[in-house]
Amino acid sequence: MCGIVGYIGELDAKEILVKGLEKLEYRGYDSAGIALGNEVGLTVVKEKGRVADLRSAVDWTIHSTTGIGHTRWATHGVPNQTNAHPHQSTSNRFSLVHNGVIENYQQLQKEHLHDVQMNSDTDTEVIVQLVEKFTKGGMKTEIAFRHTLSLLQGSYAIAMLDADETDVIFIAKNKSPLLVGIGEHFNVVASDAMAMLQVTDQYVELHDKEVVILRKEAIEISTLDGVIIERTPYTAELDMSDIEKGTYPHFMLKEIEEQSGVVRKIIQKYEDEHGELTIDTDVLTAINEADRLYIIAAGTSYHAGLIGKHYFEKIAGIPVEVHISSEFGYNMPLLSDKPLFIFITQSGETADSRQVLVKIKALGYPSVTITNSPGSTLSREADHTLLLHAGPEIAVASTKAYTAQVAVLAIVAYVAAKERGETVVIDLKRELAIAANAIQTLVDSKAEMKQIAHEFLAVSRNAFLIGRNLDYYVSLEGALKVKEISYIQAEGFAGGELKHGTIALIEEGTPVFALVTQKTVSLNIRGNVKEVVARGANPCIISMEGLEEEGDCLVLPKVHALLTPLAAVIPMQLISYYAALYRGCDVDKPRNLAKSVTVE
Ligand code: GLU
Repeated sequence: MCGIVGYIGELDAKEILVKGLEKLEYRGYDSAGIALGNEVGLTVVKEKGRVADLRSAVDWTIHSTTGIGHTRWATHGVPNQTNAHPHQSTSNRFSLVHNGVIENYQQLQKEHLHDVQMNSDTDTEVIVQLVEKFTKGGMKTEIAFRHTLSLLQGSYAIAMLDADETDVIFIAKNKSPLLVGIGEHFNVVASDAMAMLQVTDQYVELHDKEVVILRKEAIEISTLDGVIIERTPYTAELDMSDIEKGTYPHFMLKEIEEQSGVVRKIIQKYEDEHGELTIDTDVLTAINEADRLYIIAAGTSYHAGLIGKHYFEKIAGIPVEVHISSEFGYNMPLLSDKPLFIFITQSGETADSRQVLVKIKALGYPSVTITNSPGSTLSREADHTLLLHAGPEIAVASTKAYTAQVAVLAIVAYVAAKERGETVVIDLKRELAIAANAIQTLVDSKAEMKQIAHEFLAVSRNAFLIGRNLDYYVSLEGALKVKEISYIQAEGFAGGELKHGTIALIEEGTPVFALVTQKTVSLNIRGNVKEVVARGANPCIISMEGLEEEGDCLVLPKVHALLTPLAAVIPMQLISYYAALYRGCDVDKPRNLAKSVTVE
């Protein structure tokens, strides 16, 4: 969750750090802070709220060429100024920023810090207080840092400054993302290359339980026990324009509009030299050797996973189970003889999914990660990776990563089916191209979605989305979008299920969105709409060309029955977006959320 930056070099650190935090802010935005080091010592500035608040609070006259910064997504202690990072040790000698969760912080506090007055409610503060404690006991800072790390249980990305040694940043990583960036006469640290792309595109990845001693001219990576590690840097292939809003009012709208391009790019990326859809042969072999696929995911990716199951079963005849990652790891079902695990994660850093990966690897099972982030933790640690090629997704509510996941899952199922000699009834490449055009048409009609948002959601307290078959899965995703950014209590339901209880919530005027894209169940879902209308609901039917009826709210351009999610989700994304605007919500940074959930 959230973000870390650090700079050590010749230039003034403040602007680089604050700019870096602005780039990372989408990951967590409860509070932000920086610590600057110079000959006089350390200066810490931190503020509750956004990086913009921090920017106004910084004393721009302080000169400093070493610094660390943080945007927080609180796990322990409310988001306020005291709990914001950097945290300082009692004497103010050490300042530290941390992403992650220290699971044994209370125990460490009891055992080692009973005589230390803690200032915050965070789990993080124990780290910086322990370092101070051990240095007071006579250890040098690096030794005290390593000793402290050896006591920590949980996840951490850490950067620390020592007022007595301001030419070093002490860095450590375990289970939370962190990279070191290399420059000429400077070096940086960041939880995402995006933050420091302004100064360098050369990065070295860090592995769990590694420590880095970062100086202006030197990077020393070692294991916790001090064994030096040499690792070659890589070039971060990110285009700055991908991470700028440009003329768009919000990243979410920009990303919604990019979706047709993303689907086209995916077709290109998964084509061989003969123009045939293809995937890495190792992944194909892994799929074909498995007797069952286990899709593990959370949130939006879980919703894409449900569609993936449909594809693997219907196109390739491979049985699939889809599981919520935070449940699976701690309540593992009986597994088949030859399972293959497929992790779907936009960021590749989702801690809930990673704990499953760690467990199934220990059991010796093969794994594939489907992610938008090459080089991310789940990508590195799984046996194979399939990339989404959606470009950086900055808005917290996922849009283009979801459509990319659906498109990639369709391709994987399709290629696997061909490889297994199944009769495949869809010309997928052609149909994906048609779907990309449909997405474009829908995006171009956003004025209509704005109107629908105004009519149905501008003032409603709650909303329902119903669908059957693939439309049910899309209704789950649509409801999540509405909830995430407009804070309306919205629920996605299987059309036939509503009457088994939840229909009790339908009142006069309750908005019910019904998706009608599946011919085989179109009459059934229309029947379900009648049931809610009879109880006073205000229905908005979104149907597919060929299945439309008089009075439908919106008609989607025709796409193949298997690919309707790619089209049907677009109006729901746009309707949620405009509903959030009508309700005055912060679309790109909805309350209580953060982009990549790197804590369990
Ligand atoms: N657990 C720490 C806190 O609550 C760090 C949270 C984060 O990763 O931002 O302050």
